[in-house]
Amino acid sequence: MAVIITDTCINCAACIDECPVEAIVDEDDNPTGEEIYYVYEDKCVECVDHFDVPACAEACPTEECIVWGDPIEGMPASKDRGDKGTPIIED
Ligand code: SF4
Ligand code: SF4
Repeated sequence: MAVIITDTCINCAACIDECPVEAIVDEDDNPTGEEIYYVYEDKCVECVDHFDVPACAEACPTEECIVWGDPIEGMPASKDRGDKGTPIIED
């Protein structure tokens, strides 16, 4: 699952342009129909070879909004990734 945007997302758009691989879509394009931003797991590279920390989570102003999902077979996985459901940025 790469990284997951949770329902605490406030649709602020801070993350979308930070993604180096355009894996994020806004609420209008969320394939689940939820009114929040969404990360395509088949595109997210967890920012490996781009940044030290997932750029979306660094940009997000909402505490613990973006969390780790499961690693996806065949996709890059951060060596620093936490367990599924744990926030990427913790205070
Ligand atoms: S972790 Fe990186 S590649 Fe994945 S959605 Fe966030 S910014 Fe994009
Ligand atoms: S930066 Fe965070 S709160 Fe803003 S749209 Fe992205 S996931 Fe949602």
